Amino acid sequence: MELVIDNLTKTYANGVQALNGVSLTIPQGMFGLLGPNGAGKSTLMRTIATLQEASGGHIWLGDLDVLRQHELLRKQLGYLPQEFGVYPRVSAEIMLDHIARLKGVADSRERKQVVEALLQKVNLWAERKRNLGTYSGGMKQRFGIAQALLGNPKLLIVDVPTAGLDPAERNRFYNLLSEIGESTIVILSTHIVEDVQTLCKRFAIICGGEVLYVGTPHDAVKMLNGKIWAKSIAKDEVDTYRENYRVIATNLNEGRLFIRISADGNPENGFEPMKPTLEDVYFNAISTKMDLVTL
Ligand code: ADP
Repeated sequence: MELVIDNLTKTYANGVQALNGVSLTIPQGMFGLLGPNGAGKSTLMRTIATLQEASGGHIWLGDLDVLRQHELLRKQLGYLPQEFGVYPRVSAEIMLDHIARLKGVADSRERKQVVEALLQKVNLWAERKRNLGTYSGGMKQRFGIAQALLGNPKLLIVDVPTAGLDPAERNRFYNLLSEIGESTIVILSTHIVEDVQTLCKRFAIICGGEVLYVGTPHDAVKMLNGKIWAKSIAKDEVDTYRENYRVIATNLNEGRLFIRISADGNPENGFEPMKPTLEDVYFNAISTKMDLVTL
Protein backbone atom coordinates (compact mmCIF):
# COMPACT_ATOMS: atom_id res chain seq x y z
CA MET A 1 0.00 0.00 0.00
CA GLU A 2 1.10 3.56 -0.71
CA LEU A 3 0.12 7.00 0.46
CA VAL A 4 -0.30 9.26 -2.54
CA ILE A 5 -0.49 13.01 -2.06
CA ASP A 6 -1.55 14.86 -5.17
CA ASN A 7 -1.22 18.61 -5.64
CA LEU A 8 -2.20 19.44 -2.07
CA THR A 9 -2.72 23.10 -1.22
CA LYS A 10 -3.60 24.88 2.00
CA THR A 11 -4.21 28.58 2.48
CA TYR A 12 -5.04 29.65 6.03
CA ALA A 13 -7.70 32.26 6.74
CA ASN A 14 -4.97 34.87 7.33
CA GLY A 15 -3.74 34.34 3.75
CA VAL A 16 -0.63 32.24 4.57
CA GLN A 17 -0.08 29.65 1.84
CA ALA A 18 1.27 26.81 3.97
CA LEU A 19 1.10 24.14 1.23
CA ASN A 20 1.68 25.08 -2.35
CA GLY A 21 0.94 22.09 -4.59
CA VAL A 22 2.58 19.25 -2.65
CA SER A 23 2.75 15.91 -4.49
CA LEU A 24 4.43 12.89 -2.91
CA THR A 25 4.18 9.11 -3.15
CA ILE A 26 5.10 7.42 0.10
CA PRO A 27 5.63 3.63 0.13
CA GLN A 28 5.82 1.31 3.11
CA GLY A 29 8.85 1.99 5.32
CA MET A 30 10.28 5.05 6.96
CA PHE A 31 9.81 8.26 5.04
CA GLY A 32 11.42 11.46 6.32
CA LEU A 33 9.81 14.84 5.91
CA LEU A 34 12.62 17.31 6.42
CA GLY A 35 12.16 21.06 6.56
CA PRO A 36 12.84 24.13 8.70
CA ASN A 37 10.30 25.66 11.06
CA GLY A 38 7.43 27.12 9.10
CA ALA A 39 8.04 24.83 6.09
CA GLY A 40 4.54 23.38 6.20
CA LYS A 41 5.32 19.99 7.78
CA SER A 42 2.73 20.16 10.55
CA THR A 43 0.10 21.45 8.15
CA LEU A 44 0.81 18.52 5.84
CA MET A 45 0.71 15.98 8.65
CA ARG A 46 -2.42 17.38 10.25
CA THR A 47 -4.09 17.29 6.84
CA ILE A 48 -3.09 13.66 6.26
CA ALA A 49 -4.33 12.85 9.79
CA THR A 50 -7.70 14.47 8.87
CA LEU A 51 -7.32 16.99 11.71
CA GLN A 52 -7.75 19.88 9.30
CA GLU A 53 -9.16 20.52 5.84
CA ALA A 54 -7.07 21.07 2.71
CA SER A 55 -7.83 23.93 0.32
CA GLY A 56 -7.28 21.69 -2.72
CA GLY A 57 -5.77 18.43 -3.95
CA HIS A 58 -6.17 14.77 -3.05
CA ILE A 59 -4.70 12.21 -0.68
CA TRP A 60 -5.08 8.47 -1.21
CA LEU A 61 -4.15 5.68 1.19
CA GLY A 62 -4.47 2.71 -1.13
CA ASP A 63 -8.06 3.03 -2.39
CA LEU A 64 -9.14 5.24 0.48
CA ASP A 65 -9.90 8.88 -0.31
CA VAL A 66 -8.36 10.41 2.82
CA LEU A 67 -9.90 13.87 2.54
CA ARG A 68 -13.41 12.46 2.15
CA GLN A 69 -13.36 9.26 4.19
CA HIS A 70 -12.20 10.68 7.53
CA GLU A 71 -13.60 7.93 9.72
CA LEU A 72 -12.10 5.11 7.66
CA LEU A 73 -8.73 6.83 7.57
CA ARG A 74 -8.70 7.32 11.33
CA LYS A 75 -9.14 3.57 11.82
CA GLN A 76 -5.89 3.02 9.89
CA LEU A 77 -3.94 5.85 11.44
CA GLY A 78 -1.54 6.20 14.35
CA TYR A 79 -0.50 9.73 15.16
CA LEU A 80 2.19 10.92 17.53
CA PRO A 81 2.28 14.71 17.75
CA GLN A 82 5.41 16.44 19.01
CA GLU A 83 3.74 17.48 22.23
CA PHE A 84 1.07 15.30 23.66
CA GLY A 85 -0.48 15.50 27.09
CA VAL A 86 -0.52 12.55 29.47
CA TYR A 87 -2.57 12.16 32.59
CA PRO A 88 0.23 12.35 35.18
CA ARG A 89 -1.49 10.24 37.86
CA VAL A 90 -2.43 7.32 35.66
CA SER A 91 -0.15 4.36 34.93
CA ALA A 92 0.87 3.44 31.39
CA GLU A 93 -0.96 0.14 31.67
CA ILE A 94 -4.27 1.68 32.75
CA MET A 95 -4.03 4.47 30.20
CA LEU A 96 -3.37 2.09 27.30
CA ASP A 97 -6.22 -0.12 28.43
CA HIS A 98 -8.47 2.94 28.44
CA ILE A 99 -7.40 4.05 24.95
CA ALA A 100 -7.82 0.50 23.65
CA ARG A 101 -11.39 0.54 24.94
CA LEU A 102 -12.01 3.87 23.20
CA LYS A 103 -10.61 2.39 20.01
CA GLY A 104 -13.19 -0.35 20.19
CA VAL A 105 -11.42 -3.33 21.79
CA ALA A 106 -14.40 -4.31 23.93
CA ASP A 107 -13.24 -7.67 25.26
CA SER A 108 -11.15 -7.18 28.42
CA ARG A 109 -9.03 -10.32 27.92
CA GLU A 110 -8.16 -9.24 24.39
CA ARG A 111 -7.35 -5.74 25.67
CA LYS A 112 -5.02 -7.16 28.28
CA GLN A 113 -3.14 -9.09 25.60
CA VAL A 114 -2.91 -6.12 23.23
CA VAL A 115 -1.71 -3.78 25.98
CA GLU A 116 0.85 -6.28 27.23
CA ALA A 117 2.24 -6.86 23.73
CA LEU A 118 2.57 -3.12 23.15
CA LEU A 119 4.24 -2.45 26.49
CA GLN A 120 6.75 -5.20 25.70
CA LYS A 121 7.32 -3.82 22.22
CA VAL A 122 8.16 -0.30 23.42
CA ASN A 123 10.16 -1.69 26.33
CA LEU A 124 7.99 -0.25 29.10
CA TRP A 125 6.75 -3.51 30.55
CA ALA A 126 8.86 -3.18 33.72
CA GLU A 127 7.58 0.38 34.20
CA ARG A 128 3.93 -0.31 33.37
CA LYS A 129 2.62 0.40 36.89
CA ARG A 130 4.38 3.74 37.21
CA ASN A 131 2.37 6.92 36.81
CA LEU A 132 2.99 8.65 33.49
CA GLY A 133 3.91 11.87 35.29
CA THR A 134 7.09 10.19 36.58
CA TYR A 135 8.28 9.09 33.10
CA SER A 136 11.38 10.61 31.43
CA GLY A 137 11.08 12.30 28.03
CA GLY A 138 12.17 9.14 26.23
CA MET A 139 9.73 6.95 28.16
CA LYS A 140 6.85 9.33 27.37
CA GLN A 141 7.85 9.19 23.72
CA ARG A 142 7.80 5.39 23.76
CA PHE A 143 4.47 5.47 25.52
CA GLY A 144 3.29 7.80 22.75
CA ILE A 145 4.34 5.22 20.16
CA ALA A 146 2.49 2.49 22.07
CA GLN A 147 -0.75 4.49 22.07
CA ALA A 148 -0.28 5.36 18.39
CA LEU A 149 0.15 1.66 17.56
CA LEU A 150 -3.11 0.58 19.20
CA GLY A 151 -5.35 -0.80 16.49
CA ASN A 152 -2.44 -1.81 14.19
CA PRO A 153 -2.38 1.29 12.00
CA LYS A 154 -1.26 1.01 8.37
CA LEU A 155 -0.05 4.58 8.53
CA LEU A 156 1.94 6.06 11.40
CA ILE A 157 2.71 9.77 11.54
CA VAL A 158 5.43 10.87 13.94
CA ASP A 159 6.34 14.45 14.68
CA VAL A 160 9.84 13.93 16.04
CA PRO A 161 10.46 15.59 19.37
CA THR A 162 13.16 18.23 19.19
CA ALA A 163 14.40 17.94 22.72
CA GLY A 164 14.21 15.82 25.83
CA LEU A 165 15.78 12.59 24.64
CA ASP A 166 19.26 11.62 25.81
CA PRO A 167 21.44 9.70 23.30
CA ALA A 168 20.54 6.26 24.69
CA GLU A 169 16.81 7.04 24.69
CA ARG A 170 17.08 8.46 21.22
CA ASN A 171 18.72 5.28 20.02
CA ARG A 172 15.97 3.16 21.53
CA PHE A 173 13.35 5.39 19.92
CA TYR A 174 15.12 5.07 16.53
CA ASN A 175 15.27 1.28 16.83
CA LEU A 176 11.62 1.09 17.71
CA LEU A 177 10.63 3.25 14.75
CA SER A 178 12.69 1.32 12.24
CA GLU A 179 11.16 -1.95 13.46
CA ILE A 180 7.68 -0.50 12.95
CA GLY A 181 8.73 0.74 9.51
CA GLU A 182 9.14 -2.86 8.35
CA SER A 183 5.39 -3.35 8.18
CA THR A 184 3.87 0.16 8.14
CA ILE A 185 4.05 3.45 6.27
CA VAL A 186 5.83 5.71 8.75
CA ILE A 187 6.12 9.43 8.11
CA LEU A 188 8.69 11.09 10.26
CA SER A 189 8.56 14.86 10.36
CA THR A 190 11.76 16.48 11.54
CA HIS A 191 14.19 19.32 11.06
CA ILE A 192 17.07 17.12 12.20
CA VAL A 193 19.07 15.79 9.26
CA GLU A 194 20.56 13.00 11.38
CA ASP A 195 17.07 11.53 11.97
CA VAL A 196 16.64 11.10 8.24
CA GLN A 197 20.19 9.85 7.69
CA THR A 198 19.80 7.19 10.37
CA LEU A 199 16.30 6.00 9.69
CA CYS A 200 14.82 6.80 6.32
CA LYS A 201 15.00 4.93 3.06
CA ARG A 202 13.38 7.84 1.31
CA PHE A 203 12.77 11.43 2.25
CA ALA A 204 11.51 14.76 1.01
CA ILE A 205 12.78 18.25 1.69
CA ILE A 206 9.91 20.66 2.11
CA CYS A 207 10.25 24.41 2.44
CA GLY A 208 7.88 27.31 1.86
CA GLY A 209 5.07 24.80 1.30
CA GLU A 210 6.84 23.18 -1.66
CA VAL A 211 8.67 19.90 -2.15
CA LEU A 212 12.26 20.72 -3.08
CA TYR A 213 13.59 17.17 -3.26
CA VAL A 214 12.26 13.64 -2.99
CA GLY A 215 14.33 10.47 -3.20
CA THR A 216 16.88 8.47 -1.24
CA PRO A 217 19.49 10.11 1.00
CA HIS A 218 22.17 8.29 -1.01
CA ASP A 219 21.06 9.72 -4.37
CA ALA A 220 20.63 13.18 -2.86
CA VAL A 221 24.21 13.20 -1.61
CA LYS A 222 25.52 11.82 -4.91
CA MET A 223 23.98 14.76 -6.78
CA LEU A 224 26.29 17.11 -4.89
CA ASN A 225 29.51 15.22 -5.68
CA GLY A 226 32.18 17.71 -6.73
CA LYS A 227 30.01 20.68 -5.80
CA ILE A 228 30.83 21.30 -2.15
CA TRP A 229 33.80 23.47 -1.20
CA ALA A 230 35.08 24.80 2.10
CA LYS A 231 37.44 27.46 3.36
CA SER A 232 38.46 29.11 6.61
CA ILE A 233 37.97 32.88 6.63
CA ALA A 234 38.04 35.74 9.12
CA LYS A 235 34.71 36.39 10.82
CA ASP A 236 34.24 39.83 9.34
CA GLU A 237 34.64 38.51 5.78
CA VAL A 238 31.49 36.43 5.86
CA ASP A 239 29.16 39.04 4.35
CA THR A 240 31.45 39.50 1.36
CA TYR A 241 31.52 35.74 0.84
CA ARG A 242 27.75 35.54 1.12
CA GLU A 243 27.46 38.12 -1.65
CA ASN A 244 29.81 36.23 -3.97
CA TYR A 245 29.12 32.55 -3.23
CA ARG A 246 26.28 30.28 -2.26
CA VAL A 247 27.20 29.81 1.40
CA ILE A 248 25.33 26.82 2.82
CA ALA A 249 26.96 26.47 6.25
CA THR A 250 29.20 28.39 8.61
CA ASN A 251 30.99 26.94 11.65
CA LEU A 252 32.99 28.90 14.18
CA ASN A 253 36.20 27.30 15.44
CA GLU A 254 38.82 29.08 17.58
CA GLY A 255 37.74 32.49 16.34
CA ARG A 256 37.90 31.58 12.65
CA LEU A 257 34.98 30.78 10.49
CA PHE A 258 34.74 27.72 8.28
CA ILE A 259 32.33 28.23 5.43
CA ARG A 260 30.91 25.63 3.09
CA ILE A 261 29.63 26.68 -0.28
CA SER A 262 28.05 24.91 -3.22
CA ALA A 263 29.38 25.67 -6.70
CA ASP A 264 29.22 23.71 -9.94
CA GLY A 265 32.85 24.38 -10.87
CA ASN A 266 36.01 25.00 -8.86
CA PRO A 267 35.55 28.41 -7.18
CA GLU A 268 39.37 28.82 -6.77
CA ASN A 269 40.23 31.50 -4.19
CA GLY A 270 41.58 28.95 -1.70
CA PHE A 271 38.46 26.74 -1.49
CA GLU A 272 39.07 23.02 -0.91
CA PRO A 273 36.81 20.29 -2.34
CA MET A 274 34.69 18.47 0.28
CA LYS A 275 32.80 15.20 0.38
CA PRO A 276 29.10 16.16 0.34
CA THR A 277 26.87 15.21 3.27
CA LEU A 278 23.11 15.00 3.68
CA GLU A 279 23.32 18.21 5.68
CA ASP A 280 24.83 19.90 2.61
CA VAL A 281 21.92 18.60 0.55
CA TYR A 282 19.44 20.04 3.02
CA PHE A 283 21.03 23.47 3.44
CA ASN A 284 21.73 23.75 -0.27
CA ALA A 285 18.09 23.02 -1.08
CA ILE A 286 16.59 25.38 1.45
CA SER A 287 19.10 28.20 0.89
CA THR A 288 17.11 29.21 -2.19
CA LYS A 289 13.92 29.48 -0.12
CA MET A 290 15.14 30.60 3.25
CA ASP A 291 14.44 34.33 2.79
CA LEU A 292 10.86 33.43 2.11
CA VAL A 293 10.63 31.34 5.27
CA THR A 294 12.17 33.86 7.64
CA LEU A 295 9.89 36.67 6.44
P1 ADP B 1 6.21 23.47 10.22
O1 ADP B 1 5.46 22.38 10.88
O2 ADP B 1 7.09 23.01 9.10
O3 ADP B 1 6.97 24.33 11.21
P2 ADP B 1 3.62 24.71 9.79
O4 ADP B 1 2.79 23.79 8.97
O5 ADP B 1 3.36 24.74 11.26
O6 ADP B 1 5.17 24.46 9.50
O7 ADP B 1 3.43 26.20 9.25
C1 ADP B 1 3.49 26.55 7.86
C2 ADP B 1 3.09 28.01 7.71
O8 ADP B 1 1.70 28.14 8.02
C3 ADP B 1 3.83 28.96 8.64
O9 ADP B 1 4.00 30.18 7.96
C4 ADP B 1 2.85 29.12 9.80
O10 ADP B 1 3.03 30.37 10.42
C5 ADP B 1 1.51 29.04 9.08
N1 ADP B 1 0.43 28.48 9.95
C6 ADP B 1 0.44 27.30 10.59
N2 ADP B 1 -0.72 27.09 11.24
C7 ADP B 1 -1.49 28.18 11.00
C8 ADP B 1 -2.81 28.59 11.39
N3 ADP B 1 -3.58 27.80 12.15
N4 ADP B 1 -3.26 29.79 10.96
C9 ADP B 1 -2.49 30.57 10.18
N5 ADP B 1 -1.26 30.26 9.77
C10 ADP B 1 -0.73 29.09 10.18
